Amino acid sequence: MIDVHCHLNFHAFHKDVDECIQDAKQAGVSIIINVGTKLDSSEKAVALANTYENLYAIVGVHPHHADKLTLNQEARSMNQGEIATSAFGQTRNDENVILNESEGSQDSSAEPQNDNHEDWLKELEKLATSSKKVVGIGEIGLDYFQYQSNGIVDPSLQKEVFEAQIALAHTLKLPLQIHGRHAGVDILEILTHHKNLLRPENPGMFHCFAGDIEILKKALDLGFLIGFDGNITYPGLAPGETTSLSDIARVTPLERIVTETDSPFLTPIPYRGSRNTPSRVILVGEFLAKIKGISNEEMDIITTENAKKLFTIL
Ligand SMILES: [Zn+2]
Ligand SMILES: [Zn+2]
Repeated sequence: MIDVHCHLNFHAFHKDVDECIQDAKQAGVSIIINVGTKLDSSEKAVALANTYENLYAIVGVHPHHADKLTLNQEARSMNQGEIATSAFGQTRNDENVILNESEGSQDSSAEPQNDNHEDWLKELEKLATSSKKVVGIGEIGLDYFQYQSNGIVDPSLQKEVFEAQIALAHTLKLPLQIHGRHAGVDILEILTHHKNLLRPENPGMFHCFAGDIEILKKALDLGFLIGFDGNITYPGLAPGETTSLSDIARVTPLERIVTETDSPFLTPIPYRGSRNTPSRVILVGEFLAKIKGISNEEMDIITTENAKKLFTIL
């Protein structure tokens, strides 16, 4: 299995990242892709990919950080990161309400960085081209959900940062890894508007997809793959959603499905309430296999192939 989206680059793993990687390997996870949410966590994702053979990186600026791209604001966001880390404990206990709590804010890092407003895109490009193990631009997109530890960032700023990164991915011929929450209509509008900037084949994937069938169909029509996480095992609907993830998975063709964990978030049942790790992508695959009525092995083979093709991993 492949975990196409997780955050071993986040503070939550600073003590046992090596152990988590070994555990995942033993559980049958052949490849792990760590994703950045701003420059410093992207840099960390690349460093991990350069250290471990079976790790790859996706670099980008999450919509939660679209308003923190000047040097001073970045320093402020680091302080917020510290607060968010302590809020993480609450998140885990209160997960009925919060599914994907402020993942952009969890990557606190003590390292200062030089990403003033003019240069952040250049820095990101430098990072994206610094290693062959960078396989995509993400997580980028729009997020209109009001989180406990992250308010809604000015949508026009979110769009500006999203579009700039779509253009960068085009220049670098890399696929997109999209983060969206309660913003599917606007995301699809932007992607459709910039269709000429998307890769004709395998333009990218929607990570941790949520939305209705109409949004799903539009994403599929544009050629995107759909990522599922441990929250597919949760009963009921996430706040503000109208369609269950199981129903979304039923409609999504097998050749468009990829598996992910979004670790440390979205821990699948029966481990819900504890920190998520890449090894748990196995449970996501098993749940999807049941929905699709195929064996776990078939699901493993198909999703692994889908992910390798999308990210050009040989
Ligand atoms: Zn996300
Ligand atoms: Zn994420």
